[in-house]
Amino acid sequence: MNKNSSNTMALAPNTSNKRETVCIFGTGDFGRALGHKMIQSGYPVVYGSRSTQISNLIPKDAEVLGHAEAAQKAAIIIIAIQRQHYNFLTPLAEVLRGKVLVDISNNLKLNQYPESNAEHLAQLLPGSKVVKAFNTVSAWALQSGTLDASRQVFVCGDDVEAKQMVMNIVRALGLTPLDKGSLLAAQEIENYPLQLFPMWKFPIFLSLGLTAFFFFYCVVLDIIYTYIYENNNFSFFIAITIPNRVCPVMALILLALVYLPGIFAAIIQLYRGTKYRRFPDWLDKWMLCRKQLGLIALAFASLHAVFTLVTPLRAFASWRTGKGIISQVLNNKTEPLDHTNAWLSDSYLALGILGFFLFVLLGITSLPSVSNNVNWREFRFVQSKLGYLALIFCTAHTLVYGGKWFLSPSAYKWYLPNIYILSLIIPCAVLVVKFVLILPCIDKPLTQIRQGWERNPKYSK
Ligand code: NAP
Repeated sequence: MNKNSSNTMALAPNTSNKRETVCIFGTGDFGRALGHKMIQSGYPVVYGSRSTQISNLIPKDAEVLGHAEAAQKAAIIIIAIQRQHYNFLTPLAEVLRGKVLVDISNNLKLNQYPESNAEHLAQLLPGSKVVKAFNTVSAWALQSGTLDASRQVFVCGDDVEAKQMVMNIVRALGLTPLDKGSLLAAQEIENYPLQLFPMWKFPIFLSLGLTAFFFFYCVVLDIIYTYIYENNNFSFFIAITIPNRVCPVMALILLALVYLPGIFAAIIQLYRGTKYRRFPDWLDKWMLCRKQLGLIALAFASLHAVFTLVTPLRAFASWRTGKGIISQVLNNKTEPLDHTNAWLSDSYLALGILGFFLFVLLGITSLPSVSNNVNWREFRFVQSKLGYLALIFCTAHTLVYGGKWFLSPSAYKWYLPNIYILSLIIPCAVLVVKFVLILPCIDKPLTQIRQGWERNPKYSK
């Protein structure tokens, strides 16, 4: 083997249009899928394998050689092998000296090892230039070409030139490289594919908990209470009536919870007189999942709209309307149109429609494809100003709907308030405090603090 020739090949600039040979160690699922994609993109591929026998699974135009022989043919070697087998690379240290080694490995658990796989590889082969890349792309997506949702490839490494060479390959494969910096970022990149909707956990658990609570609250008041005291069996309320009570309540509370952390943040900043101190962890985490809370709220609001639209189709609704008409006929008396009621019902519907429209607008602007096309001020205008307007409309929708009977004693079965009353507590509190915060005497110092002014600079340490 000619050691020198293999080392001078490392990092040699590509002067012709012909793509440089890429070596892949490992003919497993990922190695084969990546090799296939590389050959399609014009890269000659040579595999380094324990067995040099060509199987029909291996891409047709690829060569399969022993590890050392294959490594000599390329400046870039992709290590498509699990971390636990990396020790077999140590005897190849001389052949791999000066070469770019691309670590694409993942682990089974978050932070499984004290150091990342890429750092481990760099420690085993200090003469090579290790770059982390491709671990967030799946073999299946590479093979089937369904990479639309995951075109981004995180790349990190200590050698800038080596990183550039890998990023060029990423681009040539039709993917988008995202430079995450030095090899220190490898741990985070390796943890990335193991995360399961990290930002959604808190919003989902909170929504499930609150939904279960309100659902059973309604079952107790609307079904059990009515059965015990009025001897009416309204158990079918479980299908539509109760969900159509719980959904708007959840939508309103979650929408208010999107704006509540901002209120807490403003109060904390006013109290501390500086913006240069970290918020408590719980508030930071809450702020980070506001978008998810808003989207779940939108889902509840949409369900409420659908449940409301099907109301006329329900047997219970036609029975109740029929009962009203029959009672008028039996009494030979036509009920006059109650104008106050007509106003209230039209107003609450109009407020609900406007609130829902703004809700949908907020949801649409939170989509990356839309938010990427508006500037920061426009985004803030929609999410903050229109968001508060949506909260006002939805709160008013609930108030107008139940306003006249919220205070009636019949609304308090077993001394418990109706869920609509409960649903108004957080939104009303948010709106009242927000109103106080935008008073000029409070808004002015708050704006100053947010622009960097400090009441007592010693707190900025
Ligand atoms: P795989 O199908 O099990 O292939 C691993 C390959 O490693 C084997 O085919 C074998 O190749 C080689 N190998 C196994 N034991 C070895 C040993 N003792 N010494 C030397 N080489 C050995 O696994 P894979 O799915 O391709 O995954 C390979 C790496 O890619 C893993 O680190 C994984 O985390 C990462 N990855 C996989 C995916 C995916 O979707 N599969 C996605 C991202 C990252 P030879 O028989 O040719 O020697």
